[in-house]
Amino acid sequence: MQRKEKIIEKHEKYVVKGWPLFYAPIIFTEGEGCIVKDITGKEYIDCVSGCAGPMWVGWKNPKVVEATKKYAEFPHSFPGFVNIPRVELAEKIAKIAPPNLTKTWFGCSGGEVIELAIKSAILYTGKKEVISLYNGYHGFTIAVSALIPAIYRKDMPIMPGFRQIPSPYCYRCAFGKEYPECDYECARNLESVIKHGTYNDVAAFILEPIQGQAGHILPPDKEYAKIIREICDKYDILIIADEIQTGLGRTGKMWGSDYIGLRPDIICLGKTLCGGLPLSAAVFREDIAEKTESKLWGVTTHSGAPILCATACAVFDVLMEEKVLGKANRMGKVITQRLKSMQERHEIIGEIRGPGLFIGVEMVRDRKTKEEAFDEVSKIIQMCLEKGVWFGRSMANMGNLIKIKPPFIITENQITKALNTLDEVLTKLKNKK
Ligand code: PLP
Repeated sequence: MQRKEKIIEKHEKYVVKGWPLFYAPIIFTEGEGCIVKDITGKEYIDCVSGCAGPMWVGWKNPKVVEATKKYAEFPHSFPGFVNIPRVELAEKIAKIAPPNLTKTWFGCSGGEVIELAIKSAILYTGKKEVISLYNGYHGFTIAVSALIPAIYRKDMPIMPGFRQIPSPYCYRCAFGKEYPECDYECARNLESVIKHGTYNDVAAFILEPIQGQAGHILPPDKEYAKIIREICDKYDILIIADEIQTGLGRTGKMWGSDYIGLRPDIICLGKTLCGGLPLSAAVFREDIAEKTESKLWGVTTHSGAPILCATACAVFDVLMEEKVLGKANRMGKVITQRLKSMQERHEIIGEIRGPGLFIGVEMVRDRKTKEEAFDEVSKIIQMCLEKGVWFGRSMANMGNLIKIKPPFIITENQITKALNTLDEVLTKLKNKK
């Protein structure tokens, strides 16, 4: 038996698989820039930054690797003491965070900081209910499961008082309306749900400014966020922006909140923050942090570990020095324009949603009925992998969406190669029908 097959056999035997394997198994063993190599030496263009974000600065960035190595001999510090990389990183975050968000708590996973943000909203407001958007994704912990699609919480108890409202998904409007005649019914729905569907005890409204797993769903313009903010102010509700996918320049703006014109009270970061290492952060308005920090007991063993924060400081430096926003905008436009020209030839491309290097392509069997092309997307991604291009796929209800979210250093050459492959695969699939 070959080495690859032997490892897969052991994987089957010893590893718990919580993650669905849609495709033929691959064992990646190294990466550099936007290229990853598998155990057989085959190369792939990474169009998903690892897992929708961790490799946002690319693989094996020398500055990031150096920073991690420097702390390999002093990786941990008791979280109750002061550690230098944690202070430095918190300062860097405060300097670019949305207005008035200045104090940061660090965790290791996205779900963990979302929970912390919710706990602090509950403590700050003295209220207990939380509202999120349909198909939003915020993590896998039991409490957070109540905020995400039902399929993820099957057989689980759910947090009382956590509920969802339709997202601003104009391609499939939950209210059967069309923009702009709809007059933002999805945003205004928040108020009617607060009035009629809650005990008027809502502590927080949580949203991804641009929904990632849900299928790159974003409001049509800035009026949506304005209405949401007005409603939340009226009912003393905090807004938590989950920037775990959209943060640090993915959308061509520093924050997804900037892109949609949202003014959040707390933001959560993860994925893109630490060059592939597990670091996450909740960034608070000073008054929220100060009123709640003594009650939070947000003490987790690895909170703000020096090795993680030092690595993240290097990630920040790389993003700033290499002008992430300009690159995300420029390369995002190259990808979107090419996809639009492909859409003219491939009926299966229903809608292309950006912005920046945060792109989703919704695939449909029929443009009129918008029947989702679930199986086709599985095939397309598998066929592209065989040809050395790695695209992502949204999960749950949105498995008909191809995700294109490469590291920001992707070159035009690599983009062209990746999209040529997608084009070829779509043609092949069409000809097979
Ligand atoms: N929030 C968003 C928007 C995400 O995309 C994810 C993960 O995909 C999470 C939260 C959860 O992060 P983690 O998997 O690190 O818990």
